[in-house]
Amino acid sequence: METLESVKTRVYKFGNKTADGNSKMKNLLGGKGANLAEMSLIGIPVPPGFTITTEVCTEYNLLGKDAVVKMILPEVEESIENIEKIMGAQFGDKENPLLVSVRSGARVSMPGMMDTVLNLGLNDEVVIGLAKRTNNERFAWDSYRRFIQMYGDVVLGMKPESKDDIDPFEEIMEALKHKRNIKLDTEFTIQDLKDLVYDFKEAVKKRTGHDFPTNPWDQLWGAVVAVFNSWNGDRAVYYRKMSGYPSDWGTAVNVQAMVYGNMGDNSGTGVCFTRDAGTGEDVFNGEYLINAQGEDVVAGTRTPQQITKLGSLRWAELAKVEEEDRFKNYPSLEELMPNIYLELNGYQQKLEDHYKDMQDMEFTMQDGKLWILQTRNGKRTGAAMVKIAIDMLKQGMIDEKQALLRIEPNKLDELLHPVFDPKSLKKAHVIAQGLPASPGAATGQLVFFADEANKYKYTILTRIETSPEDLEGMNIARGILTARGGMTSHAAVVARGMGKCCISGAGALKINYKTRTLTVDGKEYHEGDWISLNGSTGNIIEGKVSTIEPELSGEFAEIMKLSDKYATMKVRTNADTPKDAKAARNFGAQGIGLTRTEHMFFEVDRIKAMREMILADTVKGRKYALDQLLPMQREDFEGIFEAMQGLPVTVRLLDPPLHEFVPHQLTQQKELAEEMHISLEAVKSKISELEEFNPMLGHRGCRLGNTYPEITEMQARAIIEAALNLKAKGIVAIPEIMVPLIGTVEEFEMQENIIRNTAQKVFEEYNDTIEFLVGTMIEIPRAALTADLIAKKAEFFSFGTNDLTQMAFGYSRDDASKFLPIYIEKGILKVDPFEVLDQEGVGQLVKMGTEKGRSTKPNLKVGICGEHGGEPSSVEFCYNVGMNYVSCSPFRVPIARIASAQAAIKKSM
Ligand code: PEP
Ligand code: MG
Repeated sequence: METLESVKTRVYKFGNKTADGNSKMKNLLGGKGANLAEMSLIGIPVPPGFTITTEVCTEYNLLGKDAVVKMILPEVEESIENIEKIMGAQFGDKENPLLVSVRSGARVSMPGMMDTVLNLGLNDEVVIGLAKRTNNERFAWDSYRRFIQMYGDVVLGMKPESKDDIDPFEEIMEALKHKRNIKLDTEFTIQDLKDLVYDFKEAVKKRTGHDFPTNPWDQLWGAVVAVFNSWNGDRAVYYRKMSGYPSDWGTAVNVQAMVYGNMGDNSGTGVCFTRDAGTGEDVFNGEYLINAQGEDVVAGTRTPQQITKLGSLRWAELAKVEEEDRFKNYPSLEELMPNIYLELNGYQQKLEDHYKDMQDMEFTMQDGKLWILQTRNGKRTGAAMVKIAIDMLKQGMIDEKQALLRIEPNKLDELLHPVFDPKSLKKAHVIAQGLPASPGAATGQLVFFADEANKYKYTILTRIETSPEDLEGMNIARGILTARGGMTSHAAVVARGMGKCCISGAGALKINYKTRTLTVDGKEYHEGDWISLNGSTGNIIEGKVSTIEPELSGEFAEIMKLSDKYATMKVRTNADTPKDAKAARNFGAQGIGLTRTEHMFFEVDRIKAMREMILADTVKGRKYALDQLLPMQREDFEGIFEAMQGLPVTVRLLDPPLHEFVPHQLTQQKELAEEMHISLEAVKSKISELEEFNPMLGHRGCRLGNTYPEITEMQARAIIEAALNLKAKGIVAIPEIMVPLIGTVEEFEMQENIIRNTAQKVFEEYNDTIEFLVGTMIEIPRAALTADLIAKKAEFFSFGTNDLTQMAFGYSRDDASKFLPIYIEKGILKVDPFEVLDQEGVGQLVKMGTEKGRSTKPNLKVGICGEHGGEPSSVEFCYNVGMNYVSCSPFRVPIARIASAQAAIKKSM
């Protein structure tokens, strides 16, 4: 009887317009494998091959190499035969050899994360067959030396041993170039290439203790296992952690017939995008190189040429290349090979129409025949993401809901960062220009090594070219600058994915890693010098350039407007000042969900009165100090109410422990003693009286207002008076007074009584009234558990998920940073629960609190004001729980608005 295990398909074939899989099978075949299958199905000429599933990667991690090879051997053999049939060549054959590539492919693309081996299947005999068959001995030996180099690097771990070390293979090549007095790889003779192959193999033996594998099947299994191993390599693990992807996804392995872009002047290779990945502009664009292999384009060692004539003209303008020179030395593919260009243009349109999204494609021309190596949804900047979504909507390719779902809310963050102030840009001294690889404005201090990207607060990572090892540093740096590489170089692609400002291919820069200097036009800049990058123009500017706040305009404004059509849950903001309130309103905030009143007390002129209040021994003394604070608070509230006029403003009563407000340094304590005309000893003893072992769980929140009711009285009075003062000026203020940190309904009731009694007094004094609500934070688990009782009294709930997370997990907010990163690294937690709401646990309290609250007060208004209110997955959760609004910091308001619309759309589908 066959077991389930043995019937499971682990290897999926594609090629010749058929395929076992399709694009819906991304989880199993990885993004690349699923797309290769789909492309083959729709008639795109992809080199035939097969995909080993992501499940096999997981099986490999459990069972090891031998068991996995045994399990998939029959399927792999059958698949190799299939390729052999289509290509009319044999794997390992000396006369007519088939060579393959081996690539990784996880379910989402991870640029530069996984390693690739090309030309696999070559050995000392096969290379002779390849030379004969292609009638190109040079090409065959060049392929062979590239193969040993890549295989050595990826599979056998022949990497530089330290930062100052150079790649062992590069070292051998450099030595030979020196000996032969040549500069370029292309200057090697056939004998040189043969010598290199010999020396490379010797180097492998010396370093690894083993001969380079000669059996093509051994080579294949070695490469397959290397791909699986790279899933758990440092870079991949870092990228996953950064992107929040789980480690149990695994990667697929794609094995595909090799086609060659380096078979002469009728061959070439390139990368292209159906739209501009930097700006979103609807123009086909990309780069290619004649007589080259894929890595030559990405590595940035040769200057790639543009695919379209338009692109070529634009490039020449930036690179300051004269038309004659351009046409002669850097012609576009459109000009050089018009037929191939037309065919490629047809495929890019077909692929974009098919996937209805911007595609990032790789292609190779082998002896005049075009092959598409891969396509995927292209990584893009936040600006391009928005423009492409709106353009595709207008072009009728996608509908409104799809356009909104295309927005990755967190990527909008890029559009909300400051841009260079046009005024200071006018005065800027541009020292050089490169390619505008990823837009944005970045000012920082020069660093030349990725692992030094945090040497200063703001850095510009400056490299000749970047490589996957630099990923972490690229993420830390403010901006990235490279001397080499085109728009599709590693630096450019990765920077766009990160939404980081990047200028690539600035050929005028001379970078010296040893002296840590950058020289342009004879002027030297050192590590630590300030420079600025304008990623939208490619301008490299000396010194700092000031920035201004961005605006909601153009397509960004259009997509935000569209989101309002679908979002039913409102978005408010957490704002403590009129300035923040105004900024949030400009971004579309529909009210304030949290004003932390304590922030007002921290300001210099107020802290003194606050301290006097805290240090007072008697109620009378405290009231005296509070009377001084009252007008300041009232003024603050007036400012905020005015900025938000007509919209609700939730004002929270004092929350943090009083200990936070008193001075902790001796000199400050002395000053305070003098000002208050009391002894230093008295000050010190009061401060130590206030000290707590666990302030987060101590005398804070409503516990303060219930032990010192006069504080609540003052705050309630300031709020009501402010609203009445504005009313007199014709400005509508809608205060919602919020009591923090209650665990029992009695705690709330006591505060509510103080607030309402105070309000009543003020109304009588003013002989006027306003509408206001009194509600509470739900941020202690007990409050969520008894929400039905609390809702009988409270007029609204706002979930304080910062404290709720703290208390549900028992992780102190003040101390969690010591162990949370380790927990995440070890996989105990997938993400930081203070950033992403823990739906499984804390979420239950939120859901229960909402349901219980509405069981006694069906129309209870419910919102959230913890940090999670601006985090897209948490926003979706809040929508599904039935909240009326989420509240987040001003710069996350657009993100939350899109997330709110997406949540509603997803639910309706
Ligand atoms: C919360 O606890 O979620 C909250 C918003 O209050 P704070 O962060 O001020 O404690
Ligand atoms: Mg709180």
